[in-house]
Amino acid sequence: MPSYDPNNIFAKILRGELPCYKVYEDDKALAFLDIMPRAPGHTLVLPKAPARNLLDVSASDLAHVMTVAQKVAKGAMAAFGADGITIQQFNEGAGGQVVFHLHVHVIPRKAGAAMKPPAAEKEKPDALAEQAKKLAAAIASG
Ligand code: 5GP
Repeated sequence: MPSYDPNNIFAKILRGELPCYKVYEDDKALAFLDIMPRAPGHTLVLPKAPARNLLDVSASDLAHVMTVAQKVAKGAMAAFGADGITIQQFNEGAGGQVVFHLHVHVIPRKAGAAMKPPAAEKEKPDALAEQAKKLAAAIASG
């Protein structure tokens, strides 16, 4: 497996070199909205420590990322009136991974509504800002 590339786009977001629509942060993880959401509120949860994917992440960082994914999922159910949550996580190109810093997708779902294809369309900045505000508040209120 190739080694971790610190110039990947999520590493730049983690270092504050690129912006994101943040919904949650603690000392070990960051969660922000996917700018090409497969459904409204689609969120990515990342460990802050460098890890390419599931295959090289430490067990404790992986456990923490999943704990944060659960917080985000519960917040999304409340914030977006979701009927369910889809979790996705891709490993290496053959596994569907495009950005090589481990991330877990948390995708709020409405009954009967299909997900858009991956990276189909960029969401409008205003919509992302509004969704991030709502979701961050729901996560903070537990
Ligand atoms: P994966 O590596 O899991 O296949 O997918 C990477 C995800 O990152 C895609 O869902 C894509 O829409 C999202 N993405 C790509 N570039 C950016 C970006 O600059 N900012 C954010 N927030 N998401 C991105």
